[in-house]
Amino acid sequence: MNDHELYMRRAIALAANVPDLPFGALIVDGDSGIILSEGWNKTSVNPTWHGEIDAINGLSSSGVGIEGKRLVLYTTAEPCPMCQAAALWSGIETVVFGTSIRSLQRLGWRQIDILAQEVVRRSPAWNCKLIGGVLERDCDALFQKADLPLLNGTTSRERIWVSAWPAVSWHSKQSSNSSAGTEGEADAEV
Ligand SMILES: [Zn+2]
Repeated sequence: MNDHELYMRRAIALAANVPDLPFGALIVDGDSGIILSEGWNKTSVNPTWHGEIDAINGLSSSGVGIEGKRLVLYTTAEPCPMCQAAALWSGIETVVFGTSIRSLQRLGWRQIDILAQEVVRRSPAWNCKLIGGVLERDCDALFQKADLPLLNGTTSRERIWVSAWPAVSWHSKQSSNSSAGTEGEADAEV
């Protein structure tokens, strides 16, 4: 097992905190190998609180100086445009992910159809290397497993969302439209 796989194992372990939204992430000092911050999906609290955002927030609130550090972000799934942009703004030089956005889409997870590579390509002021497919099978399995239909016909992911944001009316509209397409079935994020 190489270093990337080792840290991805940790991301997978963090994702176990939210088995229905298994987005785990950590930030590592690329030189020392020290884990600087860890996180997982907390969209039950705030819909923008993706796993990567959690790790980035943890890093900034930890007081650890990042000046001159080569930051590496590990995440169980390819960052969505919001998270990839946040990684750039945070000075993260390398992003390592397991499951791709394309795979998430195939599995029925709603995604914004902009790949992390596209965000990087259109951000010439930054240098960020993307490494995908690390422990891809293990990560894919997390997202496959998470899509468990419940007896009432909703998915566990939908249930989390609805319980957290009961006043958001557009959600129920989206849920009722979900049978029309493959991407609308549940709330998703990276
Ligand atoms: Zn995201």
